[in-house]
Amino acid sequence: MDNWRHELNQLERRGLLRSLRIVEGGQGPKVLVNGREVLLLCSNNYLGIAGHPALIEKMIAATRGSGAGSGASRLVSGTMPAHAALEERIAAFKKVPAALLFNSGYAANTGILQGLFGPEDVIFSDELNHASIIDGCRLARARTIVYPHCDTVALAEIMAREKPNRKGRWLIVTDGVFSMDGDLAPLPELCDLKEEHDALLMVDDAHGTGVLGKNGRGTGELFNCLERIDLHMGTLGKALGCAGAYLAAERVVIDTLINHSRSFIFSTSLPPGVPAAAMAAFDLVDSDEGRVLRENLERNRVQLSESLIAGGMDLLGSTTQIIPVLTKDPEPTMKMTARLLEEGVFLQGIRPPTVAPGLCRLRATVMASHDPIDLARACEKILAAYGEFSG
Ligand SMILES: *Cc1c(COP(=O)(O)O)cnc(C)c1O
Repeated sequence: MDNWRHELNQLERRGLLRSLRIVEGGQGPKVLVNGREVLLLCSNNYLGIAGHPALIEKMIAATRGSGAGSGASRLVSGTMPAHAALEERIAAFKKVPAALLFNSGYAANTGILQGLFGPEDVIFSDELNHASIIDGCRLARARTIVYPHCDTVALAEIMAREKPNRKGRWLIVTDGVFSMDGDLAPLPELCDLKEEHDALLMVDDAHGTGVLGKNGRGTGELFNCLERIDLHMGTLGKALGCAGAYLAAERVVIDTLINHSRSFIFSTSLPPGVPAAAMAAFDLVDSDEGRVLRENLERNRVQLSESLIAGGMDLLGSTTQIIPVLTKDPEPTMKMTARLLEEGVFLQGIRPPTVAPGLCRLRATVMASHDPIDLARACEKILAAYGEFSG
């Protein structure tokens, strides 16, 4: 116990200790922290539908009908009509033949990569990919080659260099929207490369699904290359306001995962209320209401990011609803985060190891349900806190 205490003390001294915060008051654009109302700028509930009556009613009805828990893993007795119906819906949404649910995005990425790839295979992975992809590459025991962030020229060189030694499958894996920088993967160029080299492309669209593209189908739709992506991974806990995740792909891929993916096989399936609520979320995304929510989200994104840039902030190339404000070092970052919370603005200070040293940031995420007036006030407070604690 003493070594652990010592390690934690060291983290605290370096300004890197993490701890939990209790958030109350529903899932609106404002919540209660320490009993005080604050503007919520660190939720991935981008469309603001986690508290939508349609989702909640469907969750309650399915829970009444099928129980609070599923009682078993999917291959035993834990596949219910709600799971099967949602998988069909997701496959249609991504325009592929089949889909498979996982209990979380973390479980999906680890289970997909472990279930489909092995030591003969090579995985080309963007250096800023999500931690669950990194862990999935490790579990696959595939040779993993990390390429510089979004650098398709460097990736092309690496692939050409590797070509003579090729034995097994090749996979390029990337976040669609990068979760800490809010920038987009160069999907058309990655599609060109994977086609040139007879490789597969997997896109983790945790932050794009429901949000990007005319119909919210994600980063692939935005870039008009949805049909060229082989493995569509996405999550249901962010813009879709529920929980869980999926892979959408060819039937043979899904059948392979049902037989090989350890996080899929050895885990109790999602409670039936979750896929039922997620079905309502897809109904919303597909509706006029969903289109209006995406428009409001875009309006709020433009407002907050443009006003921060006008105030001299470096947003690290973000073009999405994930808006980082570069603050560089941990100590001022955490002081700004604390000051902003006191002032009623709840956002996340991000430090190593989540980001590289020197790239600490305030990470703000906007929601469709934010009031533009509240965002304008929050921007002023962010600029004031930055002025006080930085440089
Ligand atoms: C959040 C996230 C995940 C993990 O999804 P969970 O459902 O929260 O486990 C995976 N990939 C990316 C890019 C994410 O942002």
